[in-house]
Amino acid sequence: SSFEDCAIHATLKSNVVKAKYDRPTPIQKWSIPTILLGRDLMACAQTGSGKTAGFLLPVLTGMLERGIEGSPFTELQEPQAIVIGPTRELVAQIYKEAYKFSLNTRIRPVVVYGGVSVSHQLHEIEKGAHIVIATPGRLIDFINREKIGLSKVKYLVLDEADRMLDMGFKDDITKICCRMGMPDKFNRQTLMFSATFPSEIQQIAHQLLNDYIFITV
Ligand code: AMP
Repeated sequence: SSFEDCAIHATLKSNVVKAKYDRPTPIQKWSIPTILLGRDLMACAQTGSGKTAGFLLPVLTGMLERGIEGSPFTELQEPQAIVIGPTRELVAQIYKEAYKFSLNTRIRPVVVYGGVSVSHQLHEIEKGAHIVIATPGRLIDFINREKIGLSKVKYLVLDEADRMLDMGFKDDITKICCRMGMPDKFNRQTLMFSATFPSEIQQIAHQLLNDYIFITV
């Protein structure tokens, strides 16, 4: 199997080829069709498995198929997708991949994380933010400032969920999900990735996901 055979958007296919990805990794082989079908997903996958492209390619495809909404330089940006990860390094890595895949599309990915000043990130958000890749605390900060709104979010990705719990982000994640209108989980697709699947992660999966598909690689 190759990326040519899978149902991702044509522009993304050519961007994947340019990124020199030859064929889907095992996680990608399963996650891409599952997400394209509209199903919620709980995936156990390590860093290095290709999990990032495993969720970005179908999410970006879904966004392109629905049509890219929103205009730059409006006060409040209403992204269609939110990706949350535990560390600056991880979200920066996800952003780099999202940026590469989004070339020659109208999608504008934006990354935000704590520990640096807000002003540059705010300026980037104001230029337009269709997919926001964020650490939990800084995302809440921009939500509270009414710079990022969650009413149009169709895809929520929680990456390295076990590490987020270890780092004490459970309350922040709960807060963000409440702002998305939890427990009404039916107008949104939620995708969770975790290296391990302890009972606390199982509980969160049960709370946040709707009739989910479980993948382990
Ligand atoms: P990840 O597990 O998402 O952090 O990805 C690990 C690394 O593998 C990243 O540097 C990706 O750019 C690369 N990668 C992901 N998928 C593929 C693929 N299908 N073919 C080649 N490289 C890939």
